Amino acid sequence: MIPEKAFERLLGLDECWEVTGAEYETEPQERFVLVVHETDKLWPKLICPVATCRHTSIVCHDHTEPRVWRHLDAFGKRTEILCAPLRGRCKSCQHVWRIPVPWEGEGKHFTRDFEAFALTLMREMPMKKAGEILGEEDTRLWRMLFKHVDKAYRALDLSELVHLGVDEMSSRKGHHYLTVFADLMQRRVVYATEGKDHTTFRRFAEEILRHNGHPKAIKAVAMDMSKAYQKGAREELGNAEVVFDPFHVHALVSQAVDEVRRKEAKTGDTEAKAALKQSVYLFRKNPENLSEEEQSRLEELDLKHLATGQAYMIRLELRDIYQRTIKPERARYRLESWVNWVRGKCERFGEWLKPMSKVADTIEKHMEGILAHWSGGLSTAFLEGLNSVFSAVKRKARGYRSSEYMIAMLYFVAGKLTFPRLCSHSK
Ligand SMILES: [Zn+2]
Repeated sequence: MIPEKAFERLLGLDECWEVTGAEYETEPQERFVLVVHETDKLWPKLICPVATCRHTSIVCHDHTEPRVWRHLDAFGKRTEILCAPLRGRCKSCQHVWRIPVPWEGEGKHFTRDFEAFALTLMREMPMKKAGEILGEEDTRLWRMLFKHVDKAYRALDLSELVHLGVDEMSSRKGHHYLTVFADLMQRRVVYATEGKDHTTFRRFAEEILRHNGHPKAIKAVAMDMSKAYQKGAREELGNAEVVFDPFHVHALVSQAVDEVRRKEAKTGDTEAKAALKQSVYLFRKNPENLSEEEQSRLEELDLKHLATGQAYMIRLELRDIYQRTIKPERARYRLESWVNWVRGKCERFGEWLKPMSKVADTIEKHMEGILAHWSGGLSTAFLEGLNSVFSAVKRKARGYRSSEYMIAMLYFVAGKLTFPRLCSHSK
């Protein structure tokens, strides 16, 4: 078989296209260049794209400037297709248009097969790394990813979205926020936008309308207790029951314990200071996750007399409520008792436990939304998992911190959108 024919087969070209030259160049870089041309068989197969015409006598109008598409490597060498794209003309209505070439992808520079391969790499590693392996500028790869994400996202159908989860994602060490909306049943990210104020909900409500969904169709929304989110949900998702999910309630309590510990470690009496030296993880971890050493250290501490110890026990008690209470009425009773119990402790320990009494106030104030966790039948597991999704996205987009990159990567990684897959000679 002559090489040109072999390359035709490898490229999966049909009779409408032929490889007329296969060169191996060494300057300016090593590469195969495959020159591709249309054949006479192409024209009879074309139909005029003008809806009112649809005529079948199409002729070649002209060829435009030759272009290069990077294809999958051959023998480990960069391989490119060189072709002068052509324009057809309808003999009936004289309409002129560019004939698409069968190998073109979504981006300008790559073939479809190359794009599918690049996307596969991007799933597995940071963009910088994928760029190194492919020997491609990452700006070109990003542009290609944007195109694919845009296209796939436009096709997203949200007509069945009823259980929503909302969370904030920080980038650049807390200077930049995205608000991320997820479908808790389909377990995927459906929208992300800059900021963490109530207007993020308005943008979400507008977006969902573009995807066959409706903000009023949302039955439940799980989120943290921020005032902005509550306002957003109230204003934009009129029919949604607000659920403050366990993950965010725990986070709030853990932060308060941390606050108590930091203050006591810094300004407590000598004994307390000594006891709390390097103790961050003792109190942040759950007991079953402590190492043996940490466990014995914790046992040695006189928790009852440390404000931090009290705060820690408050946290564990709340955790026990979540772990062991099944019925909503029982949950209400236990949570209300917990609030009173915390207040009693706070009275005895005064200023030291101030962050804990604040948390008790917050929980009391949001009691109905917190209890909705028990009655709503809403699974918030995906919401909890989002934090690791956020880290993965940041890792993949490392070095590109603008929201545009983050959002595209978020949809790519966690949107469950449809992207081309690598398979040999798919058409
Ligand atoms: Zn026509």
